[in-house]
Amino acid sequence: MSMPAKRVSIGELTFDSHFSCGNGYDFTEIAPGHYRFWTRAGSALYSWRFFFRILSPGDGREIILEAADFNHAGRTVWNESAAVRSTDREHWRDIGQENISVTDYTPGDPPLPYGDSGHIPYGVRCTVRLDAPEVWVAVPVPFTPKDRDRLFTGLAAAHPEYVRQEAPGETYHSNETGHPVTGMELTDFSIPPERKIRCVVIAGEHPSESAGMYACRGMMEALADRRELLRTFDFHFVPIVNIDGVCSGRSYHNTIPGGDDIGYNISMDYEKTEYPETRYIYGLVEKIRPHFFLRLHNGRHRDRFECFVNGEYKHTRFIEELGKALTIPLDPPRESNDREMWVRRHCGTPVVMTFETLLLRKNPPFMEWKESYLSVGRELLDGITNGLNAVKTQLNKEAEHESDL
Ligand SMILES: [Zn+2]
Repeated sequence: MSMPAKRVSIGELTFDSHFSCGNGYDFTEIAPGHYRFWTRAGSALYSWRFFFRILSPGDGREIILEAADFNHAGRTVWNESAAVRSTDREHWRDIGQENISVTDYTPGDPPLPYGDSGHIPYGVRCTVRLDAPEVWVAVPVPFTPKDRDRLFTGLAAAHPEYVRQEAPGETYHSNETGHPVTGMELTDFSIPPERKIRCVVIAGEHPSESAGMYACRGMMEALADRRELLRTFDFHFVPIVNIDGVCSGRSYHNTIPGGDDIGYNISMDYEKTEYPETRYIYGLVEKIRPHFFLRLHNGRHRDRFECFVNGEYKHTRFIEELGKALTIPLDPPRESNDREMWVRRHCGTPVVMTFETLLLRKNPPFMEWKESYLSVGRELLDGITNGLNAVKTQLNKEAEHESDL
């Protein structure tokens, strides 16, 4: 199979996803001003994202962009409302539900096998005005390794005494992409770790879930300014776990070298720890022996926050405080799945939580997705730290190692 084209010129327009994290292939004009493209990278089984730029005379013309091959539950205009546009790749504004419609799926050539029966293929049309020579379009707002590294550099420059970068970890493709999996610790280093509540927070196990990655950034930026929290908490963050998947424009799975590039789901690998990313996370957990392990994802179809936590903390003040800090309601917690509970069983982590931030509902009063996603992180920081403080006695009792909170 030949590689799909990532840069195509049609008349006065050029469609280009030939850059790190870009996604959008084989653009064709199917009617005047109506351009169809495919989004599944390689033989990926799932896709619900795109990210590319359009070069044009910038004369204000309107075009229809049609993603031919999405698949996800939902398939309504609301489910597609995280689509955004930008003229500087920095500030992203809604394309707007009034400019989006859902249409039939168009198979590529050759047609590739699809994910599963719960993810029925469909197409999405967005009307976009080309009012600048360079217009970027994406769904959802991208969070790239560049964003991660800029976040780390910014925090290190502003708060050198409170941050330390974790040792990076190689992935299958980090030599090609130049982006290892890595993280950052934020704490007051003058206080020994055994006197603090230790937390590991990860995001981006699924490459398209940028709302969770922005929430991670929001937590980090808010924490860096909270002297009192830095004295009592020791936080370790890994904002993009699936760095290979993010770089290659995947939606869900990671990629393995060569051969079958359907890839793998990092979230399924906590028990086997077969893959470099999961081993990296496990290495951190074993080293830090956290009281709290949090995985940030984002719901692609939810309109309330949802979380999964182990039974020992489901009906405690931890959840109560978390709920209080959030503007949008939190559903009653569900039980953590057996795979992620591996972390508790093997490393004695008292609280293991998955939190589904929201991709499709803005936190009031924010008008832009990115600002809203960041604000969720700030609320989470309050909720989590208040909540963990409220169950400190239980945490102390449960932590199998020397803790003196
Ligand atoms: Zn996810």
